[in-house]
Amino acid sequence: MIEKCNYCGELEELVPIIKENDKFDGLKLHTGQIDKTMCKRCVDNSFKYGFCRGCGEKLAYHLSQLNSAGECLQKHAKESL
Ligand SMILES: [Zn+2]
Ligand SMILES: [Zn+2]
Repeated sequence: MIEKCNYCGELEELVPIIKENDKFDGLKLHTGQIDKTMCKRCVDNSFKYGFCRGCGEKLAYHLSQLNSAGECLQKHAKESL
């Protein structure tokens, strides 16, 4: 399988997008949790997806999965308690 950006066809700097309703805990990512693949530029330019400030740019989330500080809810909810 050749991976490429689902939007522009870019082959480099690809990041998986986590499924919007998935409870990804920030640890191990399974293929079943991936919604689609996009390049970093398309993620940056989109209004739907973003990176977690705490986890870096290895994968992207739907914005609904990020809190107001730009962190993924599943992983950082625990840490802030
Ligand atoms: Zn792209
Ligand atoms: Zn995170």
